[in-house]
Amino acid sequence: MTNPLSWQNITQQVDRALPHSEASSASMAFMRYPKRSVSLSMPVVMDDGTVRVFKGYRCVHSIALGPAKGGVRYKPGLTQEEVETLSALMTVKCAVMGLPLGGSKGGIDVDPKELSSKELERLTRRYTSELVDLIGPMQDIPAPDLGTNEQIMAWIMDTYSENRGSTVPGVVTGKPVSLGGSVGRKEGAGRGAAYAAARVLPAYGYDLHRSTVAIQGFGMVGRYAALAFSELGAKVIAVSDTSGGLYHPGGLNIPALIRHKEETGSIKGFTEGRFLPHDDLFKLEVTILLPAVDAGAIHSGNVHHVSAKFVLEGANFAVTPNADEVLRKKGTILIPDIVSNGGGVTVSYFEWVQDSNQFFWTEGEIRDALEKHMREAIGQILQIAYKQGIDLRTAAYVIALNRLHNATSLRGVYP
Ligand code: GLU
Repeated sequence: MTNPLSWQNITQQVDRALPHSEASSASMAFMRYPKRSVSLSMPVVMDDGTVRVFKGYRCVHSIALGPAKGGVRYKPGLTQEEVETLSALMTVKCAVMGLPLGGSKGGIDVDPKELSSKELERLTRRYTSELVDLIGPMQDIPAPDLGTNEQIMAWIMDTYSENRGSTVPGVVTGKPVSLGGSVGRKEGAGRGAAYAAARVLPAYGYDLHRSTVAIQGFGMVGRYAALAFSELGAKVIAVSDTSGGLYHPGGLNIPALIRHKEETGSIKGFTEGRFLPHDDLFKLEVTILLPAVDAGAIHSGNVHHVSAKFVLEGANFAVTPNADEVLRKKGTILIPDIVSNGGGVTVSYFEWVQDSNQFFWTEGEIRDALEKHMREAIGQILQIAYKQGIDLRTAAYVIALNRLHNATSLRGVYP
């Protein structure tokens, strides 16, 4: 399998969308290169007194539409190319979601589970101080991603603020609510995925109330998508995490399962449902399949088993380009990552706006604004897809390229 996070995957998508868009190869030349990509070596004193050097990265792909925005991932084996590819995906994601933000990504090659909390804090603070002149509320705004959480965002915010001499909440999103974070941010990506599906299904003659859902992964995306799906009346019949899968054709009790996961750390041992091997989750004849773990979950080796009508791409690049082609030929509707999980960065945007105004919204206001935002973004994608006879991923890229083309044309090339 080719690396699902290779740079080529993003340029391929751009090439596919370009002929359907108002953009030209010349106006999109910038898309083919990251604007600024830094690589860091960071010595950290471990608890036993030894010094370990970690590799870290931060890449700003584009600031055409606004300050750069993108998560920070802590992942063993992380490479600069992966970070660059994901930063370009953020440019496209922010553009298609209609946010006034550019695209960036960062991370450290580390397994956060292997470090103590103190080690993780020292590593995070060192990473932040290396980037102190490159990040900022109007420059580049980090957020949580794989392997990072609100505590890590709090350390980034504190380190940045101490270096600047004043508290700057808007330098990161996904912070704890008590430090200027937003209610509903943790749920943003998962909830947004369910709202996206709720808008797409009727366009193809499906009713969410009569739909079944299978979800790979019960982290932030999977868990809150499951919750929102059950609130919206769909039946979540299977979920999985690292301990395996759970299958309950009658529909799982999601609030109870979330409590179980929070109390025990896994979905294993839940009173309802029967065990399902990992690979079997993809074979279920469900209406919606949501892969929400990592890139490349659906690939040429398992795509033939996918029996779902809709694939909702929760993780970035969850479906490889080859598998994407197979799904298209089968007539499976794929709702692409840049919108499926675009609710995460959308609520990040709400958080950034709240921080700059120092005026905070209620949970109900965030949910309503997110739902409205998702519906609008999807509505535009469906319209382009229908008008031009193209798939939803290509249509989403077309919208993003049109917006980027417009911004770069107006801004011009400096000097
Ligand atoms: N890491 C998330 C993503 O891939 C969120 C980024 C953000 O909120 O800035 O979309």
